[in-house]
Amino acid sequence: MAYDDNNIFARILRGEIPCTKVYEDAHTLAFEDINPEAPIHTLVIPKGKYVSMADFAAKASDVEMGALIRAVGKVAEIKGVADSGFRILANAGDHAHQAVPHLHIHVFGGKALGPMLVRAK
Ligand code: AMP
Repeated sequence: MAYDDNNIFARILRGEIPCTKVYEDAHTLAFEDINPEAPIHTLVIPKGKYVSMADFAAKASDVEMGALIRAVGKVAEIKGVADSGFRILANAGDHAHQAVPHLHIHVFGGKALGPMLVRAK
């Protein structure tokens, strides 16, 4: 899938749409999900134009990859869930119901999160 420059996270990165920032560095931005599904629900995105984790894995530099993973760790610390526990999730494509076509890692926490997946039929 080609990258859509007008997806909502591209617009957040350009400053056209506000976000509640949690963390930022040269390669990543983390901000609060607008429709949280847990007491802690933060999104971590690369600043580069990557549609999904597969796209990122194929094209991103090692520096960008390291920065994204380190940003997840920073967010867990900042949001106070590094010790209590948290879950990360990155939906990719139709079967995973990816709604925004810019790679994003969800960070969930703040309560016991229950089973990992609804059992597939
Ligand atoms: P996904 O289904 O994995 O693509 O998740 C997209 C996520 O983006 C959802 O959890 C939405 O609530 C979140 N979202 C959509 N628009 C915004 C926005 N403007 N600011 C913050 N989060 C957003």
